[in-house]
Amino acid sequence: MPTFKAIVIDKTDSGQSVALKDFDEKDFMDGDVTVRVEYSTINYKDGLAITGKAPVVRRFPMIAGVDFSGTVEQSSHPGWKPGDKVICNGWGMGETHLGAYAEKARVKGDWLVQLPATISARDAMAIGTAGYTAMLSVMALENAGVTPDKGPVVVTGAAGGVGSVAVAILATLGYQVVASTGRVQEADYLKGLGAAEIIDRKELSGPAKPLARERFAGGIDSVGSTTLANVLSMTRYGGSVAACGLAAGMDLPASVAPFILRGVSLLGIDSVMCPLPKRQEAWKRLETDLDRQKLAAMTTEIGLAQVIETAPSILGGGVRGRIVVNIQ
Ligand code: NDP
Repeated sequence: MPTFKAIVIDKTDSGQSVALKDFDEKDFMDGDVTVRVEYSTINYKDGLAITGKAPVVRRFPMIAGVDFSGTVEQSSHPGWKPGDKVICNGWGMGETHLGAYAEKARVKGDWLVQLPATISARDAMAIGTAGYTAMLSVMALENAGVTPDKGPVVVTGAAGGVGSVAVAILATLGYQVVASTGRVQEADYLKGLGAAEIIDRKELSGPAKPLARERFAGGIDSVGSTTLANVLSMTRYGGSVAACGLAAGMDLPASVAPFILRGVSLLGIDSVMCPLPKRQEAWKRLETDLDRQKLAAMTTEIGLAQVIETAPSILGGGVRGRIVVNIQ
């Protein structure tokens, strides 16, 4: 039986082990499409899975990695044929279903999105789950009526993956972007992506007042905890905040005051089980609304063999922008 290279997480009596191994195709899980994976990426969740710092992985052995781009090799799904270029984000890959840090993946055809004509397989993973989540967040703000004329929009965790892509998209769409970061030394990087103003994340990180001075028409928050609570308390009357992350914690020590006294809305963003039509819309929007030069400026590349040593650094906020993983 043929094998392929993969990053495999296993559970032993002494804890979790992670290694680059040969994986047997006979151990593939159910799926109707087999893909030759070309690129993957490192997201925050991949850092959690590889270090075992959160119970992301629900079955062992598990191939890590939550998203990939590649070419269909075999398919019994009516929508896909060999040679089709595809993207897969989430759906439990790297959690309950064998994941993306592998030369091959077998998945359900219903999970796949066609690679947009103007996005390369590499750029699709430079965007990755983080970037597609940033797009979903921008779409949510638009649907809630947060248009560029309404006022500044804050992006927290701005120098990270979701944050960098969110800053770039919002700026292209004409928003005045306030980038909140703990790395003020990255001010030039963030201005290059289109941020109009850089603020130190300390301004948003103490215990939140029920209501603070109205500063932002909207926000995209990848940090959670007191940061999200502060952003809510600083959101202008009728504004909205898209909550997509937990880099500082899963808690939300906030009050209902912004909701009941200022009509503020909190918009939940999930990329993992997001229905296909919304994914397709997000990827279509990424074709036009994300400047490829900015994407290149925020992206570094590693090989499959470097994933295990690189992934932990994302948890400490040590990664700037996006990391693409060249699999082949
Ligand atoms: P990154 O690590 O690239 O970005 C997170 C950023 O948050 C860091 O770069 C840092 O930005 C900031 N940060 C980190 N730790 C802290 C802290 N303790 N306090 C305040 N700020 C902090 O991760 P990603 O962009 O890949 O993911 C961001 C978050 O979004 C994660 O929690 C992830 O799980 C979540 N996510 C959720 C998805 C969904 O479907 N809802 C999909 C994808 C991601 P800076 O240095 O600029 O302050």
